[in-house]
Parts: sequence; structure tokens; C-alpha cells
Amino acid sequence: MNFDSVNISIDETAIDEALTVRPADIEPATELTYAKNVFIPLTTACRYTCTYCTYYDPPGQASLLTPTDIREIVERGVKSGCTEALFTFGDDPDDRYNEIHAQLDELGHGSIHEYLAEACDIALDAGLLPHSNPGDQTHAQMSLISERNASMGVMLETTADVQAHQGPRAKSPTQRVQTLETAGKLEIPFTTGILIGIGEQWRDRAESLLAIAQIHDQYDHIQEVIIQPVSNNERWQEGSPSTETMRRVTAMARATLPAEISIQSPPNLAPVRDLLDCGIDDLGGISPVTTDHINPDYAWPAVRELEDIASEAGVPLRERLPVYESYLNDAWLSPRVQQVIRGDNTVGTKFRSIASD
Ligand code: SF4
Repeated sequence: MNFDSVNISIDETAIDEALTVRPADIEPATELTYAKNVFIPLTTACRYTCTYCTYYDPPGQASLLTPTDIREIVERGVKSGCTEALFTFGDDPDDRYNEIHAQLDELGHGSIHEYLAEACDIALDAGLLPHSNPGDQTHAQMSLISERNASMGVMLETTADVQAHQGPRAKSPTQRVQTLETAGKLEIPFTTGILIGIGEQWRDRAESLLAIAQIHDQYDHIQEVIIQPVSNNERWQEGSPSTETMRRVTAMARATLPAEISIQSPPNLAPVRDLLDCGIDDLGGISPVTTDHINPDYAWPAVRELEDIASEAGVPLRERLPVYESYLNDAWLSPRVQQVIRGDNTVGTKFRSIASD
């Protein structure tokens, strides 16, 4: 990637060093964490067409949840003891999505981000912490929802220009890096990650991790990095990376990123049991009530299975909030979000148990 338009530069020596890392160089984590969420796919519209993605629907087939749908999912999450409302959509639905724009208009919103703000309000009012993953975002878009989110995220995926992102509406690594920087400027605790097996090379994986480390070095806002393998689905039949590849790249992530950033391995997608000695310390958000809408063919594991994984690793398993402990303070969270965290609800109970540990 050409880093001219962003405020980072990647040193070739650092890439060479990252490429030497192997699992044997890594100390395993001393605990594993996870969060309980409800997955709320606000819209399946997306202006891009990544070839491995089964999430987006083309114009004419994409849907938009109504406020009633959102309330119903949120209520199920509250009743099931979740703490996180995970809002996703593809990148801004563009002009081809007439029906989505018509629906937004009917709901009184000029943009999907305005509607996301309303959706976050529904979650906050019910006592859940919004964590939004709405793809690339401008400063104005992110500002609109920053006070209403405990944390946010976007997968960097890779800094490389890969064929899987090409086409008439190509997703740009520069924009993703800019989104990470914008989150830092707005002081938003942030989740990102890299996607393995979409045509990137080993140097690209190292460069992507070093780019994340540099952005975090400037803003201190990256709370976790997901190391995710691409998986077969109705649009992608080119398979997943090998376990050996996942072991090496996970170890590379642990060695390259600062210790305060968690390394997350999604147990419904990655061979987690084979990665326990490679530095992972988080098993992501799992949902007791909704499917993984981004990877619908891959069921969430039950908490019991996570306990079994932790037991195999010989470490304790701990439930966390969507926003990590080091960000649970005035510097990072709005009064609105803190009100939920200190409330008489599931989130408040979890927070008080974290604070007393
Ligand atoms: S991966 Fe994300 S950006 Fe790409 S098509 Fe799917 S929803 Fe859109």
C-alpha cells in the first residue's frame, strides 16, 4: 500500500523481523476473555462487492431492519444476559439502493448513519452497549455516533491491493487505514483485524499488523485485533488458510502488536484449539440469541464450549464488556455510555464485578 496519504510509514526492517516470528517465540496468554452480544444487521446493502463476502445483498434484494425489529432483537439480548448490541452494515449503501434510501426517507433519516444513531439510542435505552461496525467512515459520520457507542470497529483486512477487492467498486486499504486514524482522533476504543487467505502475501500480513501498531502508537485506541481466516461460503469457494498459516500469523500478530492490544481468534471460524499457544487472549463476541450474519454457515459456540477451550489451554475464562477495561473511564466514554455501564442492569452488574476484581 502507498502510505503517502496517511500519517504512517512502514520500515522494511520491521517487516523482515515480523517475518521471522514463529509460534515457539510466543508466550501463551494467562486468561481468555469473551463478550456476549446480539448481532443486529441494520442493513445488508453495501456499495462494495468483495468476492469472499456473503453478507451483502445486491440492490433490489437488500433489507433494512425497522425500529420494531431492532427493539425486538435488543429485548431478546437483554433477556439473555447480553451486554453488547453489535450493529453491522456494509459500507454506505450507494445510489443503486433506491429502496433502502426510500425506507430511510420514510423513517425520517437522510442517511444510514442517522438511522444508526437512532438504533444505538434504542440499545442504550434498553441497557445494552452499542458496538458499531459500519465499514469505512468519514469523520462526520463517526462523530454522529461516537457518543452513542462504547466501542466501534472495522476490519482493516489487509493493506494490500488484492483481487478479491477489485471490480467497479473496489474497497480501498487507504480508506480503511484512514477510518482507523479517524477513530483515534475521535478517541473511540476500536477493534480491527486482518483477514487471512484473500490473496495477500506474508509481507502484506506483516505490513498490515505494523500499520495497526503505528496507528495505535499515535492514539492508544486499538483495543483488540482479530486474526480471521477467510471461509468458504456461497460466493467464496477458494478455501481457508491452513492451520500452520493461522498459527504463524497469529504468533506474528502477538509479537508485532503492543501487549495492551488483545489478539482475538473467532472460534466459529478459526482453529482456535490449535492457536492457544500462539498468543490469543480473546475469543470474541458470541451470541446466545442471534446467528453470525456475516458468516451464517458457521454457528457460534456455546459458552460451555468456550469453557472447554479455556480448560484445554489451562487458563481461566472471563466474560468482558465490548469495551475493554483500560477504556472504562471518562477519557474514552461519553456520559451517555457511562450511564449504562453504571446502571442497574446486566452491563452494570458485569462492570461492578470487573471493577472489584
Ligand atoms: S466484506 Fe464488507 S465491504 Fe466487502 S462486500 Fe462485504 S459488507 Fe461490503
